[in-house]
Amino acid sequence: MDVDALYQEIILDHYKRPHGRGLRDPYEAEVHHVNPTCGDEITLRVHIDGDRIADVSYAAEGCSISQASASVLNDLVIGRTVEDAMALHDDFTELMQGRGKVEPNEDRLEDGIAFAGVAQFPARIKCALLSWMAWKDATAQALTDHSTSDLGENE
Ligand code: ZN
Repeated sequence: MDVDALYQEIILDHYKRPHGRGLRDPYEAEVHHVNPTCGDEITLRVHIDGDRIADVSYAAEGCSISQASASVLNDLVIGRTVEDAMALHDDFTELMQGRGKVEPNEDRLEDGIAFAGVAQFPARIKCALLSWMAWKDATAQALTDHSTSDLGENE
């Protein structure tokens, strides 16, 4: 099967049946991020329990790529330690900024590899990264408010 077709199918599948969608309680931080170039929007909440991501809930609207990305993010980060999820965020960002030349690690990124195809289209990269940036922002805020970690992750 053609890799691009497979990637498109994965993205469409998440778009049609988004995983974990909806805003839930409890949560420590909520953010609202917008991608003005495409019109994508996401409201995202993070719930952290100890050093783990207990829940990521969201309400998203916009293009299929931005919404599928939020669904994949939900699959990938819930249940991970904050540190591991942050590393995963970096892996995904690296893939998206690799202009289609970074070989995706399927064991690590699972359905996230489908966005390797998107990385070839500069205009769509922000769509794919929107939910991840929102998640990182919300997680940083949650950790600041509760000061349970010395993650030191900020730009
Ligand atoms: Zn978009």
